[in-house]
Amino acid sequence: MAQTTPLINLIALSENEMTALVQDLGWPRYRTNQILRWLYQQRVLDIEAMTNLSKADRTRLEEVATIHRAVCAPPTVASDGTEKFVWKLEDGLAVETVLIPDGHRRTLCLSSQVGCTLDCGFCLTAEMGLKRSLRAHEIVSQVLTVQASLPERERLTSLVFMGMGEPLVNFDPVAEAIQRLTNIEWGLGFSPRRITVSTAGWIPRFPDIRRLGVNLAISLNATTNEQRARLMPAVNGRYDLSALLDACRHYTHFSERPLTFEYVLIAGVNDSPDDAKRLVSLLQSIRCKVNLIPFNEFPGNPFRRPEPDVIETFQGIVRQKGLDVFLRKSRGEDVLGACGQLGRSASKVLHDTLTNKKRNLPIYAQP
Ligand code: SAH
Repeated sequence: MAQTTPLINLIALSENEMTALVQDLGWPRYRTNQILRWLYQQRVLDIEAMTNLSKADRTRLEEVATIHRAVCAPPTVASDGTEKFVWKLEDGLAVETVLIPDGHRRTLCLSSQVGCTLDCGFCLTAEMGLKRSLRAHEIVSQVLTVQASLPERERLTSLVFMGMGEPLVNFDPVAEAIQRLTNIEWGLGFSPRRITVSTAGWIPRFPDIRRLGVNLAISLNATTNEQRARLMPAVNGRYDLSALLDACRHYTHFSERPLTFEYVLIAGVNDSPDDAKRLVSLLQSIRCKVNLIPFNEFPGNPFRRPEPDVIETFQGIVRQKGLDVFLRKSRGEDVLGACGQLGRSASKVLHDTLTNKKRNLPIYAQP
């Protein structure tokens, strides 16, 4: 029996790999950028739609290649307009992306892993463990498909790697995805300033992130090493609080961009006035702003959100000392779409939607 070679997924190729394919087909070099533009700027899902390739060339390309993006269930929409998308990957695993509208702004919260390498005690994704890291095209596809689902005149305004996973542990695919997202010639043309990568503190990759020109956010979440070791054991066991702060100081020394520190406020754990004072002194010599995130509760987790007056007092102390400090509104909580709530629902939502034949729900991308 003749063996059939599997089709190449065009969206899974890097620019160099696409160049090699074009060369193998005996085509001129400029065809590489033509195909890439169809994939990332026109977002086509069909080789047939690449109309500046001759009919014969399209047929030839269809013999060896295809375009496959992850399948997406229709988003669950929260009462505040936040939308949670659940994707089914080629191997059946599920991953989530959250779209956060705010006035004219459209922020997309991207996942970089299915589950997470780390074990932070306040995060639902951590409970899943790590299933696997995403590949570059699985990250870019989250942006392509969500952008395509928006009304004609709406654009995504910023991209944040704050969904499932620790992006700096999966650095190469994340960097490759950022390249495709920022490339102006054939890619999506996002300014690196509109992209933020959030890390629990994987410091060896800080210089690499700086070179990509995107923003870096650090999930600090504690003001003493003991507290951080309790809340974020895996990452703090490798790079403790003082190593993390040294790396941050070094980062701002070489970068024009200020750092963002995220601080999840948990009742009775890290929300006291003493914590607020310690936070200020830890960050004294670092050019930065601080985002306070009141803890988002989820079933089965013992932590609680502090009362509003406790949050206000905390913020007041930090602000009084001259730091730029913002309170992050919780978004999408009723669909478990807020920070730290991604994970458990993914496979269930996906199963329910993809098997719900009665309601005949649309699927954005073709399987
Ligand atoms: N691994 C990366 C990105 C994912 S977490 C990181 O740690 O930064 C994105 C943000 O959500 C982090 O700042 C994290 O501290 C915060 N977070 C996690 N669980 C949360 C919860 N239950 N409530 C509020 N914020 C949470």
